[in-house]
Amino acid sequence: PLPAAPAAVARLCSGAGAEAEAPGGDAAMLRHLVRKLRACGPVTVAEYMREALTNPAQGYYTRRGGVGESGDFITSPEISQVFGELIGIWYISEWMAMGKPNNFQLVELGPGRGTLTEDILRVFNQLTSVLSKCDVSVHLVEVSPKLSEIQARMLTGGKVQPNPEDKSAYMEGISKTGMPIFWYRDIQDVPPGYSFYLAHEFFDALPIHKFQRTEKGWREVLVDIDPEVPDQLRFVLSPSSTPATENFIQPEETRDHVEVCPEAGVIVHRLACRIEKDGGAALVADYGHDGTKTDTFRGFRNHKLHDVLSAPGTADLTADVDFSYLRKMTQERTTTLGPIKQREFLKNMGIDLRLQVLLRNSRDTATREQLLHSYDMLMNPEKMGDCFNFFALLPHHRLVHPDKKDKPESKSPLPPVAGFNELLLK
Ligand code: SAH
Repeated sequence: PLPAAPAAVARLCSGAGAEAEAPGGDAAMLRHLVRKLRACGPVTVAEYMREALTNPAQGYYTRRGGVGESGDFITSPEISQVFGELIGIWYISEWMAMGKPNNFQLVELGPGRGTLTEDILRVFNQLTSVLSKCDVSVHLVEVSPKLSEIQARMLTGGKVQPNPEDKSAYMEGISKTGMPIFWYRDIQDVPPGYSFYLAHEFFDALPIHKFQRTEKGWREVLVDIDPEVPDQLRFVLSPSSTPATENFIQPEETRDHVEVCPEAGVIVHRLACRIEKDGGAALVADYGHDGTKTDTFRGFRNHKLHDVLSAPGTADLTADVDFSYLRKMTQERTTTLGPIKQREFLKNMGIDLRLQVLLRNSRDTATREQLLHSYDMLMNPEKMGDCFNFFALLPHHRLVHPDKKDKPESKSPLPPVAGFNELLLK
């Protein structure tokens, strides 16, 4: 059991050695947090996570970025181009099913190195004949200046204009394939309009609150300075319930430990409102569960698990996405599909056929081995196949004819949503 934080919050222990260099040689974030904890007392895990990841000066994403083989964690688009290509095909397929509107925005939340967008835009470019009469623009929501720079280099070759006039974007450019690209810090800055949204390994990076059931009722887990070991942080329990405890724990909750990510809820609600009003769809892919898991908060550094409280700002912090919470937060403004396991989604999207084509077209053994290896990483249930999930938000009319009740027989059937239905080859 965790110790309880003292009831009086404005106390504080010496924490003398807390400013020593953290392992990895980066103590600036720890110093900043210790000062804050000394002045204000323990903080919520959400506050700790927000500071460690996106603090404008010292945050992990702000400074390090971390994605990729040379970083701290590897993601599906970084493993295989096939991943992004199949997602590109998903958007084209939905665009066609929704009657080929003459323009759309591709909006990606947390694009990392920009690899996924690049693979999607390559598919859009290859299908110019299909998309020829459609105006496509790209909108990236990214808080990290460092990663937005990497994205700009990857997608535009570095030709970007900062702070364009008359725009809510902080940067704009033209993709190598000729599409306008804009960067924003918040989804609310993205102009309204028919949009296809994408969030791959984005929601797991947003701050969570953690709660523990105790004999005295629910308590929130907080982060504090460890009085015993001065240069360390520790978890404590709030002495009484906190505003978050009151708001986020459902009376019917049966688990003893619960994680809630209100920021994910707010963003999904915004996506649902935008899709309801302007049309489009959202595809969310992440590791997660359907409201069943308990303690999933963890850190990654150099591709290894890392103590979440050690050397903050130098490791990626993440928690599984609770898809049941995301579904609830759409407030039925859209239909939701999934979560469905990554290996099922990719199979339904035709990954096996794509692999066969690539294998047939590759001459050298090294490339073939690489293709098979990355297929295994994405699809193997023991690797990424089972723990990653796909989840979609779609307008209600995409799945049910609005006037179905009145005259069901007069309507042609709606095309199935790719990826969420078994692939039927004609
Ligand atoms: N989608 C990419 C990267 C995932 S890492 C991939 O799959 O490879 C998480 C991404 O989200 C990073 O680009 C990070 O900078 C960004 N990010 C984290 N918190 C954010 C926030 N609050 N708002 C916008 N972007 C954020």
